[in-house]
Amino acid sequence: MDLARSDLLPLDCVRGGGCCHAQRIPVTPWEIAILARALDLSPAVCRDRHTRAGGTCLAADAAGDCRLLGAAGCTVHAARPLACRLFPLGRRLDEGRPIYHMPGAGHRCSGLCPEALSRPPRQVAAWLGEQGVTPGESAHDAYGRLVCGLLAEVCHLGGVSVLGEIGVLADLPAGERAATLPRPWFELLTAPDLSGQLDDPSAFVLAHAERLLGAVEAGFAGDRSRAAVILATVAMQLGEPLGIDAQAAVAYLGRTASGEHRATA
Ligand code: SF4
Ligand code: SF4
Repeated sequence: MDLARSDLLPLDCVRGGGCCHAQRIPVTPWEIAILARALDLSPAVCRDRHTRAGGTCLAADAAGDCRLLGAAGCTVHAARPLACRLFPLGRRLDEGRPIYHMPGAGHRCSGLCPEALSRPPRQVAAWLGEQGVTPGESAHDAYGRLVCGLLAEVCHLGGVSVLGEIGVLADLPAGERAATLPRPWFELLTAPDLSGQLDDPSAFVLAHAERLLGAVEAGFAGDRSRAAVILATVAMQLGEPLGIDAQAAVAYLGRTASGEHRATA
């Protein structure tokens, strides 16, 4: 169900922590860096301790609870990822415009914190403002643009010649796909040292993009196919927390390549 900003949510958050259990909480590299600052850790150590699936979502303990959940609630409340701020809402872009929606059937809070539904309803716009979603949304949208840019660069590098290899990588779970990256690439992807840009998510992602594209130029003298595979893998990993399906990225590469073939035929 799509929601307008003026719509009412039939709840108010009671901070019962219901959404901190058995949920997949996606994180971008900017969100890992923000958590790292809050926890006074390096981004790499924060990634290793608090994320899984190749640094694309938060880790959980054996009971399925987010490891950042404490006895008194979220231990990183001011630095929590966008998904935590949006819950119970989902968000997607439609031609660049954000659309908020309620995923699944029924109200997502009802089974987790039933008392939330007995509180006065909240307007969607007020909810989003109080949750402080803007920086996380800026980072997500900037990473979305970066994924598109990286896929265009993969085409430029002749990615069509290795489309089969990229397709195999797309079929892997994110953690296994990340493990195919050479270690320096994994570090650059998930834990870039950009602490000076943390408070400006767009600048952070732009600087991250420059590092990634600079590494391609510096690291693959003449081996365009290898560069295309690495960049496609990076793009798929960055797309994972944004909900960009890896196979959709491969389909995009295939369509772009066939369009180029037609244009040059
Ligand atoms: S499940 Fe709903 S009411 Fe409970 S903490 Fe999460 S957002 Fe708040
Ligand atoms: S980061 Fe905080 S709000 Fe988000 S799931 Fe973990 S404990 Fe809950």
